[in-house]
Amino acid sequence: MTTLKFYGDESIPLEMHKVRIVQKLRLPPVEYRLEAMTAAGNNTFLLQNADVFMDMLTDSGVNAMSDQQVAAMMIADDSYAGSATYTRLEAKLREIFGMYFILPTHQGRACENILAQVLVSPGTVVPMNYHFTTTKAHITLNGGRIEELVADEGLEVISVHPFKGNMDIGKLRAVIEDNGPTQVAFVRMEAGTNLIGGQPFSLQNLADVSQVCREHGILLVMDASLLADNLYFIKEREEDCKDLSIREITRQMADLCDVIYFSARKLGCVRGGAMCMRSEELYRKMRGLVPLFEGFLTYGGMSVREIEALTVGLEETMDMDMINQGPIFIAYMVEELEKRGIPVITPAGGLGCHLNALQFLDHLPQSEYPAGALASALYIASGVRGMERGTLSEQREPDGTEVFANMELLRLALPRRVFTLSQIKYAIDRIQWLWDNRRLVGGLRFIEEPEILRFFFGLLEPTTDWQQQLVAKFRQDFGDSL
Ligand SMILES: *Cc1c(COP(=O)(O)O)cnc(C)c1O
Repeated sequence: MTTLKFYGDESIPLEMHKVRIVQKLRLPPVEYRLEAMTAAGNNTFLLQNADVFMDMLTDSGVNAMSDQQVAAMMIADDSYAGSATYTRLEAKLREIFGMYFILPTHQGRACENILAQVLVSPGTVVPMNYHFTTTKAHITLNGGRIEELVADEGLEVISVHPFKGNMDIGKLRAVIEDNGPTQVAFVRMEAGTNLIGGQPFSLQNLADVSQVCREHGILLVMDASLLADNLYFIKEREEDCKDLSIREITRQMADLCDVIYFSARKLGCVRGGAMCMRSEELYRKMRGLVPLFEGFLTYGGMSVREIEALTVGLEETMDMDMINQGPIFIAYMVEELEKRGIPVITPAGGLGCHLNALQFLDHLPQSEYPAGALASALYIASGVRGMERGTLSEQREPDGTEVFANMELLRLALPRRVFTLSQIKYAIDRIQWLWDNRRLVGGLRFIEEPEILRFFFGLLEPTTDWQQQLVAKFRQDFGDSL
């Protein structure tokens, strides 16, 4: 595949699909948005989707399916055991990853539950490039602990490093030496590293990690939930992989791993998950947990329709024109914001665009939740719903002390193939307005703070009447516009 070029200066992110089914959106007026935000306790998780114009909360389970996927759902073979639909999924996973033993699950965290129950025991350690929330929880629940070994550049907000998800090999060797290889439950590499901004690792880095694992007889597990984005970045940014097809890169990655698991809410654009492995012994240990927690071995808690669509979705993941859409649109959005001097995480990754709230609202102390305040302000200004990834998403110490996050981010996810270029331009326009009026944005404080998962259920209020002032400025600048 050659890159698409344009006659003019502007590089246009081009949709390589057409829209054949539409969902009507509603953009309620700014006064209504303020009311809705107040009713939701300034927590975007608690907004009604009907009040949201662009839902950029997450990419989980909300990616657009293809016509082929929807068509495949109609031929699903509905049976409890031995369904032909499942056989097709199994065959596709074997073909793509070259691993023979497959276990289906209802979603990604269910794979993590099984992995942790079988491989993690008290006192063991799981080195990883970076944690994901549910992964860490399952490992600690089983008495293990994690070691985050992402290379230093992974935590730099502004960077030009092409592979910020890489693991530091020196640190990996040190952790193995300090703990002894038998205490290492497994090593985990997360493709398209979610919590640091959808950043990829390189094929070379995976090969280096794999080499260390093999030297010490340690299992290498890949979380492939965000594999599609990582594949795109390897193909685009890794010199040695330029001439490889997506299918070849996928197989080379798989050949370096012992276990691959994924959330099909992201990979394959359906709702479900699966685990693939080489070892029959490991498969036999894990197999018994599937009927216990998921469902029978030939559906694992997924509906047969989702399984049928997943088989097609996996095949479509091997197509550059299908997987480039997310990263190309995200890159456009990040570059446009950067041009306007608006602080974003760079380089653009997968998953979405991340606004740096610490800099955007540098007049607010972290104790007033700048990323949460930015999420609230952006919804009021635009009807765009993002997700706070900062101090609100942390938990207090047992004595009540606030734990301030390393980064205060507002994540604006781009579910794959859902938004058009004009919608992205609208979001950029409103973010720019908010940037120009950022001094009007004030802080938030809790009115109801649950002890666990406060970012999901917590209710907050503005510390001053800044939201009324923001709405008044909006009216002044936009007249009777929505
Ligand atoms: C979403 C996600 C998971 C969990 O998957 P669910 O299907 O939501 O349970 C695990 N790992 C990564 C990297 C993810 O992005």
